[in-house]
Amino acid sequence: MNELAQHTYELFGLRLTQPQLKAFSMYEKELLDWNTRYSLTAIREPEKIQIKHFLDSLSCLSVMAGSCMERVIDIGTGAGFPGVPIKIVDPNIHLTLVDSVRKKTGFCEHVVRKLDLDNVEVIQGRAEILGNRPEHRQQYDWALARAVAVLTVLLEYLLPLVRVGGYVLAMKGEGIHSEVHNAEHAMRVLGGHMREIVQVFLPGVAEDRYLVIVDKVAATPPGYPRRIGVPMRKPL
Ligand code: SAH
Repeated sequence: MNELAQHTYELFGLRLTQPQLKAFSMYEKELLDWNTRYSLTAIREPEKIQIKHFLDSLSCLSVMAGSCMERVIDIGTGAGFPGVPIKIVDPNIHLTLVDSVRKKTGFCEHVVRKLDLDNVEVIQGRAEILGNRPEHRQQYDWALARAVAVLTVLLEYLLPLVRVGGYVLAMKGEGIHSEVHNAEHAMRVLGGHMREIVQVFLPGVAEDRYLVIVDKVAATPPGYPRRIGVPMRKPL
């Protein structure tokens, strides 16, 4: 498995060490094991886990590299994606993993312990609450999310967490151009400015994958994010 993995990871110019490859294989084992008891992810075959979870998550590094990425927050992380693979490859980041569902954060805590990752905080909670707490509001260099909400809603979750000068990274699939168009108003209101859309190609994956990067150019006004559920019910 390691051989396949090393070859695969090289796609994004990554050269993983043996301990990192071992960490990924332990992560895969824990995912498969927990999945027999709780349904954490619909992807169950090892090769698909490596590509659609690990490699897909690592695609973020291709746009993050070279920027300040000391504090990174992953909202709606589920079983740790994209945050945990990024942390395995770049152990220097301080990572905050957030999900509203207890069994998901329980799994993340377990993996963080098992892989002996330091400087990782796991929080069971909602983005709408964290974004209004001084210890999280406008504190992060990068706020990431995959498969959590449409871009307009996601920006209300993520932009309040990012410091001016930092970035939002949304991992998205097809339909991205209309999502970006619909999110223009939210971007302006929340202090964001569209930077770029980068298409990602994963081996054997036909669906379109995109990374949407938004610059945080101005402080998010008080009042955002709105109360739990409001961003989703009444998108900006
Ligand atoms: N990012 C993971 C999981 C995606 S599923 C992956 O790509 O595999 C979406 C996750 O977001 C769910 O686990 C859900 O509990 C969480 N979520 C949705 N809205 C949220 C919110 N407002 N605050 C925190 N977590 C949220």
